[in-house]
Amino acid sequence: MDSIYFSEEHHIFRKSLKDFVKKEIRPYAEEWEEAEIYPREIFKRMGDLGFLGVSYPEEYGGGGGDYFTTIVFAEEISKCGALGFAMSVLVQTDIASSALNEFGTHEQKLKYLKPVLSGEKIIALGVTEPNHGSDVASLETTAIRDGDHYIVNGSKIFITNGTQADLITLGVRTGPGEGEKGLSLIIFETSTPGFSVGRKLKKMGMHSSDTAELFFDDCIVPVENLLGREGEGFYAIMLGFENERLVGAAMSYAGAEVALELSLQYAKQRIQFGKPIGQFQVISHMLAEMATDIEAARQLTYHAAWLKGNGKPCRKEVHMAKVFSTEVATQVANKAVQIFGGYGYMQEYEVERIYRDVRLANIGAGTSQIMKNIIVKLLGL
Ligand SMILES: Cc1cc2nc3c(=O)[nH]c(=O)nc-3n(C[C@H](O)[C@H](O)[C@H](O)COP(=O)(O)OP(=O)(O)OC[C@H]3O[C@@H](n4cnc5c(N)ncnc54)[C@H](O)[C@@H]3O)c2cc1C
Repeated sequence: MDSIYFSEEHHIFRKSLKDFVKKEIRPYAEEWEEAEIYPREIFKRMGDLGFLGVSYPEEYGGGGGDYFTTIVFAEEISKCGALGFAMSVLVQTDIASSALNEFGTHEQKLKYLKPVLSGEKIIALGVTEPNHGSDVASLETTAIRDGDHYIVNGSKIFITNGTQADLITLGVRTGPGEGEKGLSLIIFETSTPGFSVGRKLKKMGMHSSDTAELFFDDCIVPVENLLGREGEGFYAIMLGFENERLVGAAMSYAGAEVALELSLQYAKQRIQFGKPIGQFQVISHMLAEMATDIEAARQLTYHAAWLKGNGKPCRKEVHMAKVFSTEVATQVANKAVQIFGGYGYMQEYEVERIYRDVRLANIGAGTSQIMKNIIVKLLGL
């Protein structure tokens, strides 16, 4: 689509990614949804083709693109037929790896970011704990300094890519200090003795993405795996969340767009009372509302992405984009199921999956309530 934000390069990139998604992901989406996991090899294949980390520096295997290259990536990967897989890829490319790119030393990036962007290693983000979800500042997993290493103890829950991850960008309490003051981020290797994966969790949607409980029992992590400065992890987590929330916004309206396209086709084909259902004004107006809401979500996300890409303050706009786009996505998916009638309730129709998948969007990466708390704080209340 034409837009002031995209150049010819973005269009070329979009086309090549679209072709890849059509040939190498969409045909397998069903299989991965049923297996409730994607194969590791697909990350390697994407890494070989240069699709992982499109905006990261080329020195570490990234594409060297601008922030809108990431937006194109998030949009097109989200049209692959399984938002769960898209989410897992986005965790790899933007959610779990962004702190590494932002705060990692050259050596850390060579050791950890490079194999993530080549798809050889899978990375997860470990922040949420059984007793601390929205309240990130209270997290309890400890990393106690002992000479030249930390000893990590605790547990995490709802971790995307959790069963397959080789690396975890891990939120830990290094202390001293209460709340956000004592938090740090470390890069954790899952081959470390004392680490274990608990249950692979059964979910309402996003089936092609694995979600797990993780346990840390006296795990020894070298001090050089600290990301950024000790005690400044909360800031690093929040900055990472900004990225996560922006790609989450793009993923949401892109998923909603698929639901709209399917609904439009269906409204032209499905005949009731002797005419296509799209000729009933209630249905056509629903389609018009869906298209308008998606466009508004997209433009707000583009605006926030432009601010972010140009190094301007963007916190308020990023959170507005996240809450608006994710709420739009759930409403659009709901309308799509309604337009499909009973068929929309059947698993063989993609709108059923989209409806279940997008329900996560206004919970994961910070709930809508938390987004609004942040927005209103930024408004000065
Ligand atoms: C499928 C899936 C994948 C996920 N992947 C990851 C991952 O890879 N890594 C990771 O670290 N986490 C991940 N999460 C966790 C996710 O980020 C949390 O679920 C989310 O932040 C909410 O935390 P919670 O579930 O503990 O809910 P809670 O924080 O317990 O919230 C429960 C309810 O209370 C509301 N609430 C809480 N506090 C406030 C407040 N101050 N004001 C108003 N309302 C409030 C919430 O909005 C919500 O409605 C994932 C979650 C899911 C479901």
